[in-house]
Amino acid sequence: MESYSFDVVIVGGGPAGLACGIKLAEKGVNTLLIERGRFCGSKNLFGGVVYTSSIKEIVPEFPEVSQSPVERPVTEEGYIFFSTKGVVKFFHTKSDSQEAFTALRARFDAFLSEYALKKGLLIAPKTKVVDIILENFKVSGVIVDRPRSFKDLRPAEVKAKIVILAEGVNRLLTEKAGLVKGPFKPEEVVLAIKEVLQLPKGELEKRFGLNEKKGLAAELIGEITSGLPGTGFLYTNTNTLSFGIGIFLNTLVNSNLKPYEILERAKAHPYLHELLDGAEILEYGAHLIPEWGLQGLPKLYGNGVMVVGDAAGLVNPLFREGTNLAIYSGIMAAETALEALEKGDFSEKTLKSYEERFKESYIYKDLLLFKNLKKFLLNNRQIFETYPNLIYEIFSLYFSAQGQYKKEVVREIIRTIKRKRGLFGVLKDIINLGRLFW
Ligand SMILES: Cc1cc2nc3c(=O)[nH]c(=O)nc-3n(C[C@H](O)[C@H](O)[C@H](O)COP(=O)(O)OP(=O)(O)OC[C@H]3O[C@@H](n4cnc5c(N)ncnc54)[C@H](O)[C@@H]3O)c2cc1C
Repeated sequence: MESYSFDVVIVGGGPAGLACGIKLAEKGVNTLLIERGRFCGSKNLFGGVVYTSSIKEIVPEFPEVSQSPVERPVTEEGYIFFSTKGVVKFFHTKSDSQEAFTALRARFDAFLSEYALKKGLLIAPKTKVVDIILENFKVSGVIVDRPRSFKDLRPAEVKAKIVILAEGVNRLLTEKAGLVKGPFKPEEVVLAIKEVLQLPKGELEKRFGLNEKKGLAAELIGEITSGLPGTGFLYTNTNTLSFGIGIFLNTLVNSNLKPYEILERAKAHPYLHELLDGAEILEYGAHLIPEWGLQGLPKLYGNGVMVVGDAAGLVNPLFREGTNLAIYSGIMAAETALEALEKGDFSEKTLKSYEERFKESYIYKDLLLFKNLKKFLLNNRQIFETYPNLIYEIFSLYFSAQGQYKKEVVREIIRTIKRKRGLFGVLKDIINLGRLFW
C-alpha cells in the first residue's frame, strides 16, 4: 500500500494516548495508535503511583480486573525528611485502600493496550513517527520509520483527519506541528533517576511492616537530593521497591554532580543504607518530567491536531499527578475528536473546544494555582537544605526532653530555629508560601 488512512492517528502509547484510543475505539472510530516501543510500556518509566478514579474513567471495572496491572494498594502515604543525622517521618494511613496503587509501567501500559485492543483500537508497535504531514496549513497525517512497501523503501505516510500527539516529554512532533517553540528548557524539566530494587525474600514485608494487602508510598525530602531542589520517592511493589530521585535539570547541571552519584549518595544515608541493605538492582533508568506547569503549556490544538499528557506539560508534582492528568487530557481530546468527526470539521475552530474543556477542568485550575510554585522552590533552596535538618533537630529536642525543665527545652528549640533560619526567615517563608496560593 502506498499510504494508509484513518480518522484519527494517535502518536504514543502511554496513559494519555491509550486513554484517548480507548474512548475513540469504544465509539467505533477508525483509529490507529502508533508506539515506538516493542510494546506499550516497554520504553516507559515512572515512580509510580496510579489513581483509581482516573483509571475507572477508561476501565470502569478497575481494580476488579483479571491479570491486574498494579502492584500493591497504597495504604500508607507520607513524607520522610532526611537530615544529615537521621529522618523524621510523617505518615498517613489511608481509609480507602483502593484509591491508589503502586505500579510498574511495563505492566500497567501493557494492560491498558490489551484493554484498548479488545475495544477495537488498532495499535502499531515498534513504529516511530518521524514527522508530521502538513498540507495547506493543516496537519493531515504522519510519516513513520517504516517503508511504504517491500518495493518502495521510502518512509510510509499515514493520513488522518485528526492527529493526537501523546508523545510524552520529548515533544518533537508538537514542535513540528507549530504548537510550541523548541523543546522543554533545562529549568522546565526534572531529571528523574529510578531503580527497581529487590530485597532478600520476606524482607520487604518485615522492613516496611506490611502484609500482602498493604503498600507504602513515601516522598523523600532533604539530604536525599544532596540539598539540591528536588525530591526522592520510595514505593513498595509486590516483590520489589521503586526508589528514585528527581532534580531540576538546570540545578543538576550546575552542581557538576552526575545523576548516579546523587543516587549513590542518597543510598549511603544511614537510614536508607539500613533499609535497603542487601537489595539487588533489577532495573535502572532515567526520564524527564515536565514540571514547569502553565509556563510549559503549548498551544493545545491546531488545524487537525491536538496535544495531550506530558507533551502538553500536564504534571502536578506537589500532588504526584501525571498519569491521571494524562488520562483525563486523553479523554478530553477524544471527546473533541468525536465532536469534530460528527461535524466533519477538523479545523482549529472546532478543535478549540479541547482547550475549552481543558480550561474548565481541575487540571488547568490547579496549574494556574501552582503557576509560581516551581520558581518559588528553585529560589528558596532552604526548603531542601535547611528545613529537613531543622525539623529533625526540633523533634530530637522534643523527644529527648525527659528529665529537663520543659521551658528550657522550648527555649532551645527557639534558639535552634533562630540559628538555622531565623524567626523572621521562617515567618517570611510561611508568608511567601501562603502568597503562592492566595
Ligand atoms: C520517575 C518518574 C516518576 C513518576 N511518578 C509518577 C507517579 O507516581 N504518579 C503519576 O501519576 N505520574 C508519575 N510520573 C509522571 C507520569 O509518568 C507521566 O505524567 C505520564 O506517564 C505521562 O503520560 P503520557 O502518555 O503523556 O506520556 P508517556 O508516558 O511519556 O508516553 C509517551 C509514549 O509515546 C511514545 N512515543 C514518543 N515519541 C514517539 C514517536 N515519535 N513515535 C511513536 N511513539 C512515540 C513513547 O514511547 C511513550 O510510550 C512520573 C514520571 C517519572 C519520569
